[in-house]
Amino acid sequence: MTIESLLRQLPRPPRETELFRIYHGSYSTDGERRTGYRGSRCSSLVDAYDEALHRAFAVLRKKVFLKTEPPIPVEVAVFHLPDVTFGLRNLPTTVRGRPASRILLSNRSHETSVQARLDRAATEAAHEVCHVFQQACEVSQRDLRWQDWAWLNEAAAVFCEHYVYPDGNESLFYCQDWLYFPELSLDRQTYASGMFVRWFADCFGVSSVGRIWEEAGVFDGPIERIEVIAGKPMEDLFTEYVLDGYFLGDPECHFNLSRVEKSWGTRETYGPIELPAESGKSFDGRIDHLAALYFEIHCASGAVYCEIEQSEAAVPLRAQIAEVMINAETGGLRRGTCVELKCNSLGVLTAQTSSSVGSARYVLVISNGTLDRNNASFKLTVTNPQ
Ligand SMILES: [Zn+2]
Repeated sequence: MTIESLLRQLPRPPRETELFRIYHGSYSTDGERRTGYRGSRCSSLVDAYDEALHRAFAVLRKKVFLKTEPPIPVEVAVFHLPDVTFGLRNLPTTVRGRPASRILLSNRSHETSVQARLDRAATEAAHEVCHVFQQACEVSQRDLRWQDWAWLNEAAAVFCEHYVYPDGNESLFYCQDWLYFPELSLDRQTYASGMFVRWFADCFGVSSVGRIWEEAGVFDGPIERIEVIAGKPMEDLFTEYVLDGYFLGDPECHFNLSRVEKSWGTRETYGPIELPAESGKSFDGRIDHLAALYFEIHCASGAVYCEIEQSEAAVPLRAQIAEVMINAETGGLRRGTCVELKCNSLGVLTAQTSSSVGSARYVLVISNGTLDRNNASFKLTVTNPQ
């Protein structure tokens, strides 16, 4: 079944405003030897989509994509998605159309509570509206690089879900992937990298997210656009981002997601390395491009000295060690004093923290902010100099 034939079958008239034409209701798939009910039996799901589509359009137009006027009305179809996607997937999607994009949303939900179902519907609608804005910014030549943009298209859409519905829970689902797999490259993940977009928006302003698409030239890739808007090379941005990423509840660290920290903890860490017991022990590791590894270090007293040998003389890795404090009000983690490890001419990174009288907790983050150098190997040694 094509989208056109589906739209012809969905009962008319659609719900219609200046912005959206929402087709829904029961339909049949006669002649295609499919059985079962097609449609949406109650209006609450469609009501939730309707409200969220309009809200997302207004918020994104005003705050994120300030210079974009997507062609309207956008046609929206609410139906059993596998009828059009040949049974392969039951995920909402936005397809390019002329003149306007089209949004395809599911007539059912796998959420079992009413609240979760409506939360998910609103989140998915907001996500797809972000894609409508992105598609409105596209120039045909840039389609040649669509694979380079795909991860960021999804990451920004997940960011927009949460921006439009900050109290929603559904949009935080992918935070788990982000927390648990820091060793996966930023541009090899999609939804989980919405956390990078969140950080970027907090550092540089929400409309800077929209500008990534609005100001892109025909042959630009997404990382080049990010660097231009931030005014910094990606290696520097990535280094700041991964350190902030350990402290979700610290208002100075650009995430402000203490509820995520409470529910699911911090980013995955190795360790803890206990000092002085494990002083001088080494750890061999590897890091892909735009990825990081975190190490937790507990030190009974004194200083912590870190040394990272890299196998290559040309240096891709950066590292920082920060003291971990507890926020007295929230119980969340707060960033204390931080030092970046310095690199000598042999590619060895070193730093020593100031000496603490009692016990102290640290996080060491080693990151590879390059765009393409994978599998960078290193040997980490942590000592407690007496
Ligand atoms: Zn998407």
